[in-house]
Amino acid sequence: MFETLSERLSGVFDKLTRQGALTAEDVETALREVRVALLEADVSLPVARAFVKSVSAKATGSAVTKSVTPGQQVVKIVHDELIRTLRGEGDPGALKIDNPPAAMLMVGLQGSGKTTTTAKLAKRLTERQGKRVLMASLDTNRPAAMEQLAILGTQIGVDTLPIIKGENAVQIAKRAKQQATFGGYDVYMLDTAGRLHIDEALMAEVQAVRDVAQPRETLLVVDGLTGQDAVNVATEFDGKVGITGVVLTRMDGDGRGGAALSMRAITGKPIRFVGLGEKMDALETFEAERVAGRILG
Ligand code: GDP
Repeated sequence: MFETLSERLSGVFDKLTRQGALTAEDVETALREVRVALLEADVSLPVARAFVKSVSAKATGSAVTKSVTPGQQVVKIVHDELIRTLRGEGDPGALKIDNPPAAMLMVGLQGSGKTTTTAKLAKRLTERQGKRVLMASLDTNRPAAMEQLAILGTQIGVDTLPIIKGENAVQIAKRAKQQATFGGYDVYMLDTAGRLHIDEALMAEVQAVRDVAQPRETLLVVDGLTGQDAVNVATEFDGKVGITGVVLTRMDGDGRGGAALSMRAITGKPIRFVGLGEKMDALETFEAERVAGRILG
């Protein structure tokens, strides 16, 4: 993950760290490179600009401590700023799934990895937090997707709500809530239907489901390889449904880490998890330090 950003930046900082003193011109040249690297890594232009501006202000004003070279100093400032941007304001804390049965709404476009992520997360909550989880698919347009969740549930040992043909999404959500309440589940996860593109019908359905379930967490699953599109999808969903966090999938892919940076900067929503493969264990919590470290190489 993040190789593209990392290689480019470490090249720039290599050059810097080899120089004895750091002139204003050096800072400017280095930051121009940083900007290009960010853009190449699919960070959106306004975010890249703001990032560089902020680093530039801090680098120019800062006194170079004796223990580090000026190059290392800039590296540190860039690193800290990356972490600050990736982490955003305030610590989002643990997922809010304490009051059983807590509803978690999983939203996103078709093909983003929503069903896979629902199962991965259910497995994680079961194994690591000892939660009793119930999963339900609301994708009535795609019976295969409903079956897929049931198959994954069997595979990972997590219950799924039995499928009843002819029910609509709201009816399924109500039944899931009932089953979760009377069945003593801690969490019920609603895998909502996706579409290829955002449309009004999709949003209306997700809103209706949200009103029934009143989820404490609404996680948007987006394909991390789609860069700016992922950010646009997040902005749309947040405006229409209100999201509490983001899961970036396919971060095992070609490594453009930019989506993470612009996602956090533009939506202001925490990135909770990253998907790192198709297997049920390929889900990690999002760690700003680790990601920033990888970005800088
Ligand atoms: P949905 O339509 O949003 O529910 O998407 P699915 O969960 O069916 O996922 C679509 C495809 O993406 C499946 O083949 C998944 O195995 C795959 N997938 C999901 N998450 C990841 C990920 O983090 N990395 C990789 N490489 N593939 C993933």
